[in-house]
Amino acid sequence: MKRRDFLKKAAIGTAAATASVAAPAVIAAPKRIRWRMATSWPKALDTIYGGAQTVADRVKAMSGGKFEIIPYAGGELVGGLEVFDAVSRGTVQMGHTASYYYIGKNPAFAFDTAVPFGLNFRQQNAWLYNGGGLDAMRKLFADFNIVNFPAGNTGVQMGGWFRKEVNSVADMKGLKMRIPGLGGKVMARLGVTVQVLAGGDIYPALERGVIDATEWVGPYDDEKLGFYKVAKYYYSPGWWEPAPTLSLYVNDKAFNGLPKEYQEMVASAAAEANQQMMVDYDSKNPPAYKRLLEKGVQMRSYSEEILKAAQNEAFSLYAELAAKDPVYKAIYDNWSKYKADSDKWFGTAETDYARFEFGG
Ligand code: CA
Repeated sequence: MKRRDFLKKAAIGTAAATASVAAPAVIAAPKRIRWRMATSWPKALDTIYGGAQTVADRVKAMSGGKFEIIPYAGGELVGGLEVFDAVSRGTVQMGHTASYYYIGKNPAFAFDTAVPFGLNFRQQNAWLYNGGGLDAMRKLFADFNIVNFPAGNTGVQMGGWFRKEVNSVADMKGLKMRIPGLGGKVMARLGVTVQVLAGGDIYPALERGVIDATEWVGPYDDEKLGFYKVAKYYYSPGWWEPAPTLSLYVNDKAFNGLPKEYQEMVASAAAEANQQMMVDYDSKNPPAYKRLLEKGVQMRSYSEEILKAAQNEAFSLYAELAAKDPVYKAIYDNWSKYKADSDKWFGTAETDYARFEFGG
């Protein structure tokens, strides 16, 4: 073959190949989509609300602006605790919330977020992504027309603000504490008078002595609510929230109607939010903690006696729930087995390193 013929043939071949690759892209031009996302958060809670924003920002960037998701603060579209129902009914396509708000529908939803004496951030992700946790949760969510994704985490929370020291289980009895969810149920079993107050109502109640103690999140979020001005003892750890996962909910019909590449964008954006929120907390908490100490906050750790008593009550509660509900039992059994092995492993290098390096 003469060189000129070869070049001609090669050129035709290249043109044909280009045409066959380019043609489907023209036919399947990406759709323009605009979705609404209801969240459970005020915008002032920038760390947690940031998870919703990360999902929206990343999807917009990955789709070249064609897939737009608009997040709304709690109360703007639906109440903060109505996100589950709004996504389930398809009132909105998406939601960003915490599944443990919905334990009234099934107590097993708590495992999607956190349970007292449960998993830390890394254990929780290992269980959800690789340990069958997410598959198990998705089966439960499917009954409610929701596809769920882990999309944020606060890490181990703090154990709350107390007006006076508590050293024993006897000190806890009759104490009035604001603590919602399963942590509240365990506290009640220790004799605490549990109160559930919305974020904005906590400070005045603590200031007036209507409550003796409250929990919230950790240094960065707690500092903004000013609890250090009216309760000087700051307890650690928040054993009821060792690493709560915030979740992205997508209505299943809406999700199944998305082009495949947009579904992948949603999954990637959620995974990114799951990491970014932890990064935000891990960079914002240290300076906030330092500021709180400078303001005279007194750090205290829960005593072994209180921790052991609370742990016993927590696992008695899980056993009671498992005896009543086979769906709960299946998830709890999988979770317990995973946790037992994971705890043994995390008790080695991670613990030895943390004790030596952070302990002082
Ligand atoms: Ca909390």
